[in-house]
Amino acid sequence: MTESPTSTRDEARELAEDSRETEWQSPSFASELFLGRFQPDLIHEFPEQDPQDRAEGDAFLAKLEQFLKENVDAEAIDREEQVPPEVIRGLVDLGAFSMKIPKEYGGLGFSQLNYNRAVALVASHCASTAVWISAHQSIGVPQPLRIFGTDEQKTRFLPRLASGAISGFALTEPEAGSDPANMATTAVPSEDGKEWILNGEKLWCTNGLDADLLIVMARTPSKMVKGRERKQISAFIVETDDPGVKKPHRCHFLGIRAISNGLIRFENVRVPAENLLGEEGRGLKIALVTLNTGRLTLPAACTGTARQCLQISRRWANERAQWGAPIGKHESVGSMLAWMASHTFAMQAVSDYASGLSVKPGADIRLEAAMAKLFNSETCSRIADMALQIRAGRGYESEKSLGDRGEIPWPVERIFRDQRINTIVEGTSEIQRLFIAREALDPHLQKAGALIAPKSSTSEKMQSLGTAMKWYPGWYLSLWSPAQGSTPAGIPSSLMPHLRFVRRNARKLARSLFHSMVTIGPALERRQVLLGRYVDIGCDLLAISAAVSRAASRTKSEPANHTPIELADHFSRAARRRVNASFRAARSNDDRTSKKIARNVLGGQYGWLEEGIVRSCPEDAPTTNGAPPGEDRPAPEPIASS
Ligand SMILES: Cc1cc2nc3c(=O)[nH]c(=O)nc-3n(C[C@H](O)[C@H](O)[C@H](O)COP(=O)(O)OP(=O)(O)OC[C@H]3O[C@@H](n4cnc5c(N)ncnc54)[C@H](O)[C@@H]3O)c2cc1C
Repeated sequence: MTESPTSTRDEARELAEDSRETEWQSPSFASELFLGRFQPDLIHEFPEQDPQDRAEGDAFLAKLEQFLKENVDAEAIDREEQVPPEVIRGLVDLGAFSMKIPKEYGGLGFSQLNYNRAVALVASHCASTAVWISAHQSIGVPQPLRIFGTDEQKTRFLPRLASGAISGFALTEPEAGSDPANMATTAVPSEDGKEWILNGEKLWCTNGLDADLLIVMARTPSKMVKGRERKQISAFIVETDDPGVKKPHRCHFLGIRAISNGLIRFENVRVPAENLLGEEGRGLKIALVTLNTGRLTLPAACTGTARQCLQISRRWANERAQWGAPIGKHESVGSMLAWMASHTFAMQAVSDYASGLSVKPGADIRLEAAMAKLFNSETCSRIADMALQIRAGRGYESEKSLGDRGEIPWPVERIFRDQRINTIVEGTSEIQRLFIAREALDPHLQKAGALIAPKSSTSEKMQSLGTAMKWYPGWYLSLWSPAQGSTPAGIPSSLMPHLRFVRRNARKLARSLFHSMVTIGPALERRQVLLGRYVDIGCDLLAISAAVSRAASRTKSEPANHTPIELADHFSRAARRRVNASFRAARSNDDRTSKKIARNVLGGQYGWLEEGIVRSCPEDAPTTNGAPPGEDRPAPEPIASS
């Protein structure tokens, strides 16, 4: 029988907490920022790509670009909702599906930065094709296999994956989206212990319909730990041609229309015991670690999209004249161009910084990767929106329609649809903010968490009190004493005020977070909007630091070129205004009324506002699962008993 899913908030949180990564050797620039410590030496000199590595990437990118231009008709792919098999084959032959697979297993063994550059290039041309490549390597089987697989498993699977076997990552279920611990798919050991019997349903599995191999997370039998039942999730490598693997539905989307994504059903699938990845019970951790690194690629893909939007907007703003001048010369359009250019520069710096970190052994990339994902996906959305606004009617018109009536078919409408997914997959923006806030608060929870945790014992509380009393006075005083620390060398003088702003405001951020912890206590966890403001401040401080450091690095190699300084300066001014506004909003806001209104909306008190429409979801119609509205959704039907 399928076990009932994890039901309580506490259980879900406990499982998620247990699955966090916790062991790191090097400090993270971002986590130090949240503690009020601006450590410029962690971000400056900017970790530029090693020239030899870059040259290897350049050679591949040239071939890839040529292939894309000659073989990948992005408009037809979008319209027909299919990446032709010969395109996939050609990309496999080129090595685009084995970039992250080590050379000893037949892959190209690329660094994260070269992989990012390739995905960004593909994404700039055809987002659907980029998703095929990325779902396979960023989160599909090769990624967790490289980190958690045994030598035997790597030898068995990686050469196959390098030579054309497609893979995907199956975590989400109809009832388990942002909260994967709530999953209902089960794997139980067979009587002889040689197999696991898999039952359940996975939703929106990208590449799933064409994949040969999937990494599947499933609940395995619970264990008793310290007298309490502990839910277990384990990870399995599943062959999709095994009996019982069904692909009953292909999903269709607003954008990235040619991805191969669907519902995958497992009916008594017998998975060999040797296909368990990592230890039994560590599946959620494997999924979260995979996503931590996987999240480095999506920000890079967003930079490809942003650069494409910038190029189209620049061309159009020069060529299109209205009211006697090119539209780019009208101040409103010009300011959009300036925003797009300066923020594209910052996105690139953030993405490259986070990915550059990932090659340092023992580096803590959790915060940087999540912040890069949040910052780049949200910034990319605004850039795509601006590109559409600048192209106006033509931005809203499909490229086919433009082409059919004789205009140049610039694909802004498609880009706008395609990029919308980026704030949803690999952790929605809301979940990223919670994740980042959790990691930012971790040093405090380590030191004083037991003081506020309802379940901690008296001796744990006393121990925590001792640690807190030793650490907090010195740390807190340091946040008020005059800012210290060396000024990083080689920063252009016009950019120095921005770094001083980061130094000052990191301290203010740490103080504000701490004050909120003390005044709000454990309920801070539920103050998502307040925490979100702190997270957004942290993201902008990180982005200013990365943009300034990148501009300094560019100026060092090209002293006569002042454009990176201009862009970093313009970006930093905008980001500083946002930071100041967020601090103001943290003090003075409408969170209380917002909460009350939200309750009223949910309770239907403003039903009159919804009158005069043809309702898409009439009140008396069943909800999506067929249950009458207001009733709890029933537990998913067991697909088969085992
Ligand atoms: C095109 C596409 C491709 C995908 N590819 C894959 C894939 O390859 N593999 C895979 O496993 N999954 C995949 N997914 C699933 C994707 O990761 C999920 O859509 C995502 O995790 C969000 O889950 P959900 O859609 O069920 O939203 P829900 O979790 O139902 O969330 C709905 C809303 O509530 C918010 N929310 C939820 N919980 C909280 C909370 N605690 N606090 C505040 N806000 C909250 C969310 O941010 C969101 O705004 C894909 C989805 C799509 C659409």
